[in-house]
Amino acid sequence: MALIDILHLFHSFYRFNESGDVSGTKEALRDVTLSIEAGSFVAVLGHNGSGKSTLAKHINALFLPSKGQVLVDGRDTKDAANVLLIRHEAGMVFQNPDNQMIANVVEEEVAFGPENIGVPTEEIWERVGDALERVGMTAYRMHSPDRLSGGQKQRVAIAGIVAMKPQCIILDEPTAMLDPMGRREVLRTLHELNQKEKITILLITHHMDETIDADRVIVMDDGEVVLDDVPRVVFSHVEELKSRGLDVPVATQLAYELRKKGLDLPEGILSEEEFTEAYLKLCR
Ligand code: ADP
Repeated sequence: MALIDILHLFHSFYRFNESGDVSGTKEALRDVTLSIEAGSFVAVLGHNGSGKSTLAKHINALFLPSKGQVLVDGRDTKDAANVLLIRHEAGMVFQNPDNQMIANVVEEEVAFGPENIGVPTEEIWERVGDALERVGMTAYRMHSPDRLSGGQKQRVAIAGIVAMKPQCIILDEPTAMLDPMGRREVLRTLHELNQKEKITILLITHHMDETIDADRVIVMDDGEVVLDDVPRVVFSHVEELKSRGLDVPVATQLAYELRKKGLDLPEGILSEEEFTEAYLKLCR
């Protein structure tokens, strides 16, 4: 069975006028059906307003379906008795690390989650040490979160979730406020957690380049899933992605333009190395 099953999910927001009365609704998700396998690294890509955040919040039971169903490890998010368990199993990391930091010391920050779910004290400190090691932040255990870089803060936020031993981590644009180095650190940490700890990762992003190494890329537009496949297949839909306001990797774009001019380059080139190899083959 899949870890996450989303079945014909619809989500509508109310719109309000200046006097605070409901003036209409906005359908932010329309008939979304998806299964996410345990252990996979899935990227959800889409431009602003395409419904990515709304989808993420459904998996964490922060939103409930207007219509349809969301099951996390077989548990229906609509059943109030399931909500706490769902939040332990599917931890969520948000965009702004500063809004997520509450403690004065990194280790306390990481301990907050397991403390909240009633983990015995001796085990909490074991989990904290382990989680900090997993995200490469052991050396900062006694530091103040205030003095960390954005990438380090996000890794501490991720450690806080890891310490709760979740099956899945959902990250809603975790790199949006980070510099390129911070983005690389966070991405590397997520891939390591996925490969070594087998934690399922659901990465919401509008940066196409963060999705290339995922097992699967789900593209959303206007509340619907419009593409869902391995990166190589998704990024071969160059025209469609561009028409939906999304970029493709530079090497993919170049190969696409040259193919249009008649060069026999394969579809689905993602990296400069792949491009160079395919191009050199043609020259031989
Ligand atoms: P994304 O994460 O892809 O940027 P969102 O899921 O945040 O997209 O938003 C999807 C749509 O729902 C957008 O049109 C947005 O304006 C609307 N929306 C999001 N949150 C709310 C809200 N709390 N109230 C009303 N409309 C909302």
